[in-house]
Amino acid sequence: MKTVNTIYSNGEFVSPHGTEIYDLINPSTNQKIGEVTLADVTDTKNAIAAAKAAFRTFSKSTVSERIGYLTKLKTAIEKRRQDFIDAMIEEYGGTHQFVTMSNAHTGAWFDSMIEVLNTFEFERTINAASVRFQPVGVVAIITPWNASNSSVASKVATAIAAGCTVVVKPSEMSALQTNVLTEAFHEAGLPKGVINVVTGLGNVVGTELTENPGIAKISFTGSTAVGKSIAKQAVDTMKRITLELGGKSPNIILDDADLDKAIPMAVYGAYMNSGQACIAPTRLLVPQHKLDRVNALAKATAESMVVGPPQNADTNIGPMVSVKQFDKVQQYIKTGIEGGATLLTGGLGKPEGLEEGNFVKATIFTNVSNAMTIAREEIFGPVLCIIPYQTEAEAIEIANDTPYGLAAYISSADSERAKRVAEEIDAGRICINGFSHDPMVPFGGFKQSGIGREYGVYGLQPYLEIKAVLS
Ligand code: NAD
Repeated sequence: MKTVNTIYSNGEFVSPHGTEIYDLINPSTNQKIGEVTLADVTDTKNAIAAAKAAFRTFSKSTVSERIGYLTKLKTAIEKRRQDFIDAMIEEYGGTHQFVTMSNAHTGAWFDSMIEVLNTFEFERTINAASVRFQPVGVVAIITPWNASNSSVASKVATAIAAGCTVVVKPSEMSALQTNVLTEAFHEAGLPKGVINVVTGLGNVVGTELTENPGIAKISFTGSTAVGKSIAKQAVDTMKRITLELGGKSPNIILDDADLDKAIPMAVYGAYMNSGQACIAPTRLLVPQHKLDRVNALAKATAESMVVGPPQNADTNIGPMVSVKQFDKVQQYIKTGIEGGATLLTGGLGKPEGLEEGNFVKATIFTNVSNAMTIAREEIFGPVLCIIPYQTEAEAIEIANDTPYGLAAYISSADSERAKRVAEEIDAGRICINGFSHDPMVPFGGFKQSGIGREYGVYGLQPYLEIKAVLS
C-alpha cells in the first residue's frame, strides 16, 4: 500500500491543508493500491503565492541559467525512468510496451527547449522600437491521467525556458507517477517556488487555478468538455490559455496504399495506449472497393493482439484506467451495435480470464457511417471504426466532418499525392505513412481539439508577453 500525503510547495514537501483521501486503484485488478491526501483551495492559494514570489527573480534569469536548470531537470528525471515505468503500469494500466517507449522520450522535452533557447531572440528591433518577449507570469499546468508525465514534463520544460514559474495540478489518478516526478523536480534544485505541485480534484484545485488572479496563463491538456469550462472561467481574469483537447482522428487509406502494411499499422495505431490516446486514429477511412480485404486484414490484426496484464512484455492492450471508463467504452460498443454498424471483432464484455480488471476486447466496427455516434464521439478505448468512401474527395469530406481536428493520418504509395490530400485536412498534425513524432514540431488542435500550439518555438511563444518600447 502506497501513501502520498505531501504536496510540493515553495521548494518543500509539505503536508496539505486538505484532508480528503482519494483511493488509488490498480485497474488491472481493481484492488486498492494506495491513498493520496488531496490538496484543497488553501493549498492551491499557498502554491500560487509561492510561484508569484519566485517569479519576481526567476523572470529575470538569464537564458544560460535557464539552460542550466533544464539540463538539471532532464538529468534528474531520466534517472527515475524505471520508477516511472513501474508506476504507470500499476497506476493506470499503461502497457509495458507503451510506457517504455513513452519514457524513452522524456529527456527530449528538455533538449528541445534548450535547442529553442539557443536561437530564440528575446529582444528584437523593429524600426525605432525595441520589442521584448518577456515571461507571461505564473502558469497553471493542468493535465490528464493518460499522458501524465510527458504532459507535465513538456509543459514544465516550456515554462522554465520562458522564465515562468508554475503550479502543476496533475490528475488525481496519477498521484504515484506525480510523486516520482516531483522528487525529480526537487532533486534538480531549482530556486524555491519555481515549480509547485498540488494534486487535487479538478473542481477544487483546478477551479481555484482557473479563477485566481495570480495565475497569468493556463496550459491545459484534457477533455474538450473541461477545456471549454476552463476557457469560460479563465476569461474573467483574461488568462492566456493553451488547450490540448480530445480528438477523433481520421486515418485515410488512399486506393494506392499497400494494405498489407497500412491496415495492421492502422489497427495498432488505433489501440495505442490501450485506445486511450488523444491522437489515436480511430476512424479508418478506406476505399469501398477494398473494404473486404481491409476487413480481413483488420480483423486478423486485432485478433492477433494481446489484451492482458500491462506488465507483460507481449501485452498490446491493457485495462481501461477506471471502472467508469470501462463502462463508458462498453456503452459506446452497445451504441455501435444498436446503431447498425457491423461488429467485425471484439464486442461487449471482458476477454476470458481477465474479469477482475477493466479489460475491453479489441473491437472493430465496419461499414460505419460517419454520422453514427461511434464515429463522432471520442470513445477513449480500443474501438476502431472502419468507414468506407467512394472517392478521394469524399474521403476528405468525411475526414473533416468532425468537431475535432487534432491529428490525421494518410497512407499512400505516392507521397506527393498524400501531401496534396494533407493540404485539405483540418487537423493540427498530419502523419503520412506512419506515426512520426518530433518535439520541435508544433502540436495542437484545429476546431474543438484545442487552442494554441505546444512544442518547440511555437510552444514557447504563448508563455511570453510581447512588449514594444518606442522612442
Ligand atoms: P479531464 O478533462 O477529465 O481531466 C483533465 C484534468 O483536468 C485533470 O487533472 C482534472 O482533474 C482536471 N479538471 C477536471 N475538471 C476541472 C475543472 N472544472 N477545472 C479545472 N480542471 C479540471 O480529462 P482526462 O479524462 O483526465 O483525460 C482524457 C482526455 O484528455 C481525453 O479527452 C483526451 O483526448 C485528452 N487528451 C488530450 C491530449 C492532447 O494533447 N490534445 C493529450 C492527452 C489527453
